[in-house]
Amino acid sequence: MKALCWEGVNKLSVEQVDDPVMRNEQDVIVRLIAGTTCGSDLHLIGGYIPFMRAGDVIGHEFLGEVVEVGAGVRRHKVGDRVVVCSFVGCGRCWYCANDLWSLCDNTNTNPGIGQALFGADTGGIFGYSHAMGGLRGSHAEYVRVPFADYGAFSVPEGVDDTSALFVSDSVPTGWMGADLAGVKPGDVVAVWGCGAVGQMAARAAILLGAERVFSIDRIPERLEMTERHIGSEVIDYTSTDVGAELRERTGGRGPDVCIEAVGMEAHSDSPVHLYDQVKQQLRLQTDRPTAVRQAIHACRKAGTVFVLGVFAGAVDKFPLGAVINKGLTVRGAQQHGQRYIPMLLDRLAAGEISTTHLATHTVPLDEAPRAYEMFKEKEDGCVRAVIRPGH
Ligand SMILES: [Zn+2]
Ligand SMILES: [Zn+2]
Repeated sequence: MKALCWEGVNKLSVEQVDDPVMRNEQDVIVRLIAGTTCGSDLHLIGGYIPFMRAGDVIGHEFLGEVVEVGAGVRRHKVGDRVVVCSFVGCGRCWYCANDLWSLCDNTNTNPGIGQALFGADTGGIFGYSHAMGGLRGSHAEYVRVPFADYGAFSVPEGVDDTSALFVSDSVPTGWMGADLAGVKPGDVVAVWGCGAVGQMAARAAILLGAERVFSIDRIPERLEMTERHIGSEVIDYTSTDVGAELRERTGGRGPDVCIEAVGMEAHSDSPVHLYDQVKQQLRLQTDRPTAVRQAIHACRKAGTVFVLGVFAGAVDKFPLGAVINKGLTVRGAQQHGQRYIPMLLDRLAAGEISTTHLATHTVPLDEAPRAYEMFKEKEDGCVRAVIRPGH
């Protein structure tokens, strides 16, 4: 079959690889209907997560049709249209039993890397380096889905492919940020980043009853889209001081909840950005935490900051003083999708969440390397490029 392979830093190509085969009874094989580019893939492509090998297939946000079913699978049959959670959970370990699916103890076959980097390994994720299990990714014609009874979800009839696709990763990630940050009716929430995850976090905050939601970005098309499709108030950080603007719009107090949906390649005009970038390029630090710092500073006293963007290691100039002196709660997590996906598919079917506007571009698998380039450079208003192997 054809698949999009990582061949080296900033080098992707479509190659012939072996078809996936069933490896245990809980597996299904899925024929890809659609997958999408995700901002966190850019960290792999750019070499910021140094656990990739030439020939690895990337891609973790996808929807497909079941074509083969293991003997132990109970909830799926051949022909089902399923959206698959990007994190793989076994459904049996202590973490899965406690609804903390991305922390699964059994699905990352290379636990040593996580143990050395973070003190413990996370669950496995499709197409996301050998630090996260080395599972083959979804930008391919077929993909093997382990523990399919837990990670694959049938899509309701009335929900189209493009809408459902984003329920694999960006919708549950955004929802989890608002949920675990404790957004409640009447709150003021600020979200850094108007990519798919940031937009979905803002939408979740609105649906959870937030009184005002601000979305922060610098790309005019993304700001406009967020205002129109999500319903949040937008702030362009290139034209204003975000902290001052948020204080002014919240009667001087600042947001109750600040959600960071940017990650380790944050952009900024501040001098400290150059410092981060130089250190990152010299591999003296793994991440550029610009948006995290800003969120911590902007948050009201005793508020909550939730980090949804992907970070790999240690960061420099972390405002620990603000965390302690302002009494902040700082949390972060990778998505526990299995906990939210059925509810989110229902909300999608009910029209409470809309995702189709995220799919600004659609390409066949052969054009996937170019699609990632457009996505990275945000050319032509590209928010997400949807890759459809069948086209
Ligand atoms: Zn993702
Ligand atoms: Zn588990």
